[in-house]
Amino acid sequence: MTAAVDFRADFPVLRRVVDAGPLVYLDNAATSLKPQSVIDAMAGYYDSVSANIHRGKHILSEEASERFEQVRARIAARLGVPPRNIVFTTNTTDGINLVASGLPLTETDLVAIPLDAHHSAQLPWRERCRTVWLAASPYATVDEESFRAALDRSPRVVVLTAASNVTGHTADLDRLTAQAREAGAWTVVDAAQLAPHRLPRIGESVDALAFSAHKMLGPTGIGVLYLSDRLIEELTPSKLGGGTVDWADEHEFRLRRAPYRFEPGTPNISGVYGLGAALEYLDAIGEAELAARDQDLLTVLLAQAKSRPYLTVLGGLSDRDRLPVLTVALRGVPDPSTIARALSDSYGVMCRSGYFCAQPYFAAHGQTAGLRIAPYLYNTEGEIEHTFAALDELHPLLA
Ligand code: PLP
Repeated sequence: MTAAVDFRADFPVLRRVVDAGPLVYLDNAATSLKPQSVIDAMAGYYDSVSANIHRGKHILSEEASERFEQVRARIAARLGVPPRNIVFTTNTTDGINLVASGLPLTETDLVAIPLDAHHSAQLPWRERCRTVWLAASPYATVDEESFRAALDRSPRVVVLTAASNVTGHTADLDRLTAQAREAGAWTVVDAAQLAPHRLPRIGESVDALAFSAHKMLGPTGIGVLYLSDRLIEELTPSKLGGGTVDWADEHEFRLRRAPYRFEPGTPNISGVYGLGAALEYLDAIGEAELAARDQDLLTVLLAQAKSRPYLTVLGGLSDRDRLPVLTVALRGVPDPSTIARALSDSYGVMCRSGYFCAQPYFAAHGQTAGLRIAPYLYNTEGEIEHTFAALDELHPLLA
């Protein structure tokens, strides 16, 4: 295991001692902790800039606008696309809704949705269209056969989960989006869980890809949405206002070019400063180091779970194409919320219980809820072992 302690000093929340002792934070699939540099960047905006962007000619406004666009350009460069294709949203949910509400779809149109999709990636479509579900295979977010059968039905949109927030499995985005595009569908990727671990290079068959800053060391309330040029042409902005038009008189108005037509009103400027600092933090570590650490964490998680017969790992025990996000069902414990509470109160371990906004997946697998253990770059092997040892003590008491 690589030495995770290096990063811990950067995260002020980890200095916290709860009743049960030092804090063990393993709820990173819900949201990550924030390093001091992110907190400072956001405070720095309010301390020394505080002005609105893209509106004024004074130096404060120019400085804020410049930093805002620099962060957009940095994200674009990491994804391998031009900045005009990057829209700032509030989060992944907002990005997917922007696409679902802006496409010209009717209630007879078909949208293919993975069974393990987060509610945020499925409900915006289910509101408007018919659904064909893509089954999850034991080793992937999408089962091949079910995928091909869905494409044969000519869906208008194919939604893909880049990484599942239940099983941690990742999708082969290049291959799946190419097949979906060939079948004539728009491709929409939910990258909320993948982005904290790696930002994918956007392939030419991806039409939209959304993620949230708060899961990748950044602040809440700021998200990123990539839109392809061809999708931009088709999308009607669902919200209009200041910043979205070039020109308006009492009869007509003319929309600005992308991305601005999709960014109405004053945005979350401090959030963009925070996201910029989060990207700098992650870039300084580097993708290779992050991937090595993820592999170490996943190995420990699977080894610990495997050796306990009272645990069932959702999505199986393979480490193939998988991030360190592990959900377990505990034998004889249909509702693990009591276990999550006891882990927190008696062992200082914060992890999530429930169905993680992926209820159709749980229903299809005959489960009602699970316990999710999701480490990130600052967690240690010792913390994971401590958590499983705590489960050994709690399970006989609560089963
Ligand atoms: N998609 C996945 C896979 C997620 O895990 C989450 C959050 O847990 C979301 C979408 C929604 O993210 P947000 O609440 O930031 O919009």
